[in-house]
Amino acid sequence: MKIHEYQAKEIFSRYNIPVTKELLCYTVDEVNAATVKLGLPVVVKAQVLTGGRGKAGGVKLARTAEEATAAAKQILGMDIKGFLVEKVLVAQGVKFSSEYYVGLTIDRNTKSVLFMASSEGGVEIEEVAKDNPDAILKFPIDPDLGMTPFMARKIAFALFDDFKLVKQATDLFQKLYRIFLETDASLVEINPLVLTAEGNLLALDGKMNFDDNALFRQKEINALLEPTEDEVKELDAKEKGLTYIRLDGSIGCMVNGAGLAMATMDMIKYYGGSPANFLDIGGSSSPQKVIDAMNLLLSDKNVKVVMINIFGGITRCDDVARGLVAALDQIKVTVPIVVRLSGTNSKEGLEIIKSANLPVVETMTQAAQMAISLCS
Ligand code: GDP
Ligand code: MN
Repeated sequence: MKIHEYQAKEIFSRYNIPVTKELLCYTVDEVNAATVKLGLPVVVKAQVLTGGRGKAGGVKLARTAEEATAAAKQILGMDIKGFLVEKVLVAQGVKFSSEYYVGLTIDRNTKSVLFMASSEGGVEIEEVAKDNPDAILKFPIDPDLGMTPFMARKIAFALFDDFKLVKQATDLFQKLYRIFLETDASLVEINPLVLTAEGNLLALDGKMNFDDNALFRQKEINALLEPTEDEVKELDAKEKGLTYIRLDGSIGCMVNGAGLAMATMDMIKYYGGSPANFLDIGGSSSPQKVIDAMNLLLSDKNVKVVMINIFGGITRCDDVARGLVAALDQIKVTVPIVVRLSGTNSKEGLEIIKSANLPVVETMTQAAQMAISLCS
């Protein structure tokens, strides 16, 4: 889950990390009022849950009231990568001499939090990573020790010479690590962290992502959720006991079990097709679940064929088949369906499917190939 810059900076503030003075605005009038309150110059920044705002023209420095108004008019209502800008952050303009990057994420190789730091902040860090990877310093943080003062100082010394700044950075880095752990974040980033004209460190921007699987214990963070259309569907599916992730392809998949669902998508790809989704309907044979799953699949207009892949283990194929037939009796399905049933009681299951006039196959290969041919 992602949150906005202003929300990330509110969290930073709570941990006493210095951030710019700023106000969130929804209208041009509010921006004008905020500009008066904060004093010129100000920076008007689009608040959208996607990166690359700067490049898209969503961050503008205004030196006069007129410029602030113009920036507000331009940015509010703007479309950035499919996200409508409904609010902007008006931040007090800051004079600074250098821009740094700091970021925390989880590194699967070292199985620890990775602290990244660079003196080439400001610009897109992805470009620095590509063109000059050595400019990004990486420090795995031992999960048992945490961010010790020694480690924080080591990172600080890698960026700064001045002892006053090293002290500020040491404190700031320890706080960032605490934020990362205490909020179940998957990413915490300050880009840029600037050295102001007064000689202090200040977070000019802030970015945080969170582990969705930890949101149940992060009530405050969860309350900030602004789901996209796709995410609304995914949450809705979760409530019905389904695990659904939308993808870009045209073959709707309905599978019992996450592993088999992954294998199904692989099989479709292998034979040259593309899955429209990941969908795990779990182990039950309840017709309601199949109805819910089918409605979910069909709500995606890209779906040209539905491939149902069931492996009967504890769930018996004949039960699933009956559920399937009952479900399909109740909803109108306009696209072709391919059913693959295998495992416990598959013979009985296949008979039931056949008598309902549905095309049925016994192997995943056949199912994938048939689904792909029905697509084109
Ligand atoms: P992003 O491009 O979406 O990451 O937005 P940022 O908030 O990081 O701003 C992009 C760049 O705009 C920064 O790297 C700065 O160079 C510049 N910028 C942002 N705020 C200020 C400010 O208060 N004063 C000045 N002079 N530049 C700023
Ligand atoms: Mn930035």
